[in-house]
Amino acid sequence: MGFAKHDQLYIGGEWVAPIGTGVIEVHNPTTEQLIGQIPAGSAEDMDKAVHAAAAALPSWLATPPGERAAYCERIGKYMMDRLDDLVDTIARELGSPLEFTRGIQTSWPIAKFLAMPALAAETVFAEEHGDSVILREGVGVVAAITPWNYPMLQIADKVAPALTAGCTVILKPSEITPLNAYLLAEAVHASGLPAGVFNLVTGYGPEAGEALVGHPLVDMVSFTGSTRAGRRISEIAAATVKATAMELGGKSPNIILDDFDEGRLREIVAAGIANCYENSGQTCSALTRMIVPRAQLAAVEAAAIQAAAAMQLGDPFAASTVLGPLVSEAQRERVRDYITVGVAEGARLIVGGIEPPPGLPVGHFVAATIFSDVRPNMRIAQEEIFGPVLSIIPCDSEEEAVAIANGTDYGLAAAVWSSDPARAKRVALRIRSGIVQVNGGDGPPDAPFGGFKQSGHGREGGKFGLDEFLSTRTLCI
Ligand code: NAD
Repeated sequence: MGFAKHDQLYIGGEWVAPIGTGVIEVHNPTTEQLIGQIPAGSAEDMDKAVHAAAAALPSWLATPPGERAAYCERIGKYMMDRLDDLVDTIARELGSPLEFTRGIQTSWPIAKFLAMPALAAETVFAEEHGDSVILREGVGVVAAITPWNYPMLQIADKVAPALTAGCTVILKPSEITPLNAYLLAEAVHASGLPAGVFNLVTGYGPEAGEALVGHPLVDMVSFTGSTRAGRRISEIAAATVKATAMELGGKSPNIILDDFDEGRLREIVAAGIANCYENSGQTCSALTRMIVPRAQLAAVEAAAIQAAAAMQLGDPFAASTVLGPLVSEAQRERVRDYITVGVAEGARLIVGGIEPPPGLPVGHFVAATIFSDVRPNMRIAQEEIFGPVLSIIPCDSEEEAVAIANGTDYGLAAAVWSSDPARAKRVALRIRSGIVQVNGGDGPPDAPFGGFKQSGHGREGGKFGLDEFLSTRTLCI
């Protein structure tokens, strides 16, 4: 695929020239080459898109849910036909390995669009209550603002249920990985979706994003991204009392209790490493704190070193690659800074470090890195690093493990392992997070996803995800 030059926005059912004159360049993090450009949308562009979405709202709300969901299915089918392009685009702009990109980065989000007719069919949009009728209606005009790490998955988790609920949408994707969103807009156009129901405006957060969040005609902001930006967006949205759903950062714990033999321990540590390094560690729910029995620390370290050594770093398009580059130079510097902080705080670096990985002079690569003897109050145990960096935290009791697990500002995901399933479940219930994996359980693909504490609020996925975009009202008769 050649240079992706996008110089238009999708507003009111057509491709239009932006009012803003700025341009944002998109780079390939593996080759560091320029691979595309998009408009830096302005406040005027946003205003135009919001008005288009507001104008389309009444007739979209009046469209039967099954019909709305059928549009989503058509959008999903179009993207399925363009799957290879979508995989190629995301692997190039994000740097995520090909097989991984073909799964969670593309097939999963497409499946979410395709699932809408079934979801609409099982949802009760109107029910009688005495002589009155209780209606579940789309909340209105939705601003969907998304990050770069699972770009299409996060878009799908908002756009598909919002459209099915009866909302009209303005999507502001990440300016770092925006190219895939253009493919979605093409799918929307091909589906024949009524003009204004879906709009795409690209741009920077503080300009285009804030203009969207502050717009009085926007009813709800569905945001996925950093806790820092989530806080700012919540403040702006409060001025016009908008509904918000916030999917923010994490620092998720992986508790391994003290009842495993060395063989099983090795497997569990390897599973934890694989989870932590997924998408080069750029995963909000990554299990980045491995909390282990102090008596077994040496065995855990040996297993972790072995598992990390097997993680092949390199070109996302090479079949053997497990770890691609980080998304940008800024992200790589941020991760390296945290590694420096960890060393300065006195944590023991047992694998990796800030040096560029051998044989990869080009690309934003960081070696798989592990700290041991991490204390719970260190910055590398408290703050989201968003790179391939694991902190192993030794502890002396189940009680202490739970306290450490709950001892951050975040509460997105967690995992608990015990050879006694009842004990694992008991401990899991004490962790304050939106998801807790018990002994490696994966959960259904439409399980609700979202956080506690400063990981945010609101849930995405399946019927809970649709619920976010519905508002309840009563027709009193
Ligand atoms: P980010 O917060 O920098 O940007 C996310 C989006 O918000 C982008 O589209 C950006 O342009 C926009 N934005 C930034 N500042 C804004 C502002 N002031 N007003 C309006 N919009 C603004 O996050 P990122 O670096 O793209 O993504 C990484 C972060 O996302 C990590 O913290 C990660 O944990 C989090 N994340 C959370 C989840 C989840 O479901 N909880 C999922 C994926 C990523």
